[in-house]
Amino acid sequence: MSFLQRIGNSLARFMYGRNGADQLGLGMIWLLVILNIVSIFVRGGILASVLNVAALLLAVCIIFRIFSRNLPKRRAENAAFVNKVWNPIRNRIANTRNQARDKDHKYFTCPQCRAVCRVPKGKGNIVITCPRCGNQIHGKS
Ligand SMILES: [Zn+2]
Repeated sequence: MSFLQRIGNSLARFMYGRNGADQLGLGMIWLLVILNIVSIFVRGGILASVLNVAALLLAVCIIFRIFSRNLPKRRAENAAFVNKVWNPIRNRIANTRNQARDKDHKYFTCPQCRAVCRVPKGKGNIVITCPRCGNQIHGKS
């Protein structure tokens, strides 16, 4: 067994039964990166100290979650994060990408209920009746 293999095996043994990286951890790392970028532009004063302390606490939290052995609690935290933050953002990105790719339809968002209405392109000025709330949207397709 090579030296690198032995390091890999001992790391795998060490991480066995621990939480490791999950979506919440990734989200926290992104937040940490954003905090650090913001703190570059804020120099001195109480705000800079608060940012630094927040970044430090966040880093400690990330490390704690990665090495935590309390899997049920970490998984519950991650599931709540995935449902409330991760999936809505991911769906929004996917929808925007799909709508940009769709050259045959135009998408209107109902100002009353935020429902997305899809209409065929190239029909001129149209009035769309929202299928969810019945609100009328005037637009050009
Ligand atoms: Zn509507």
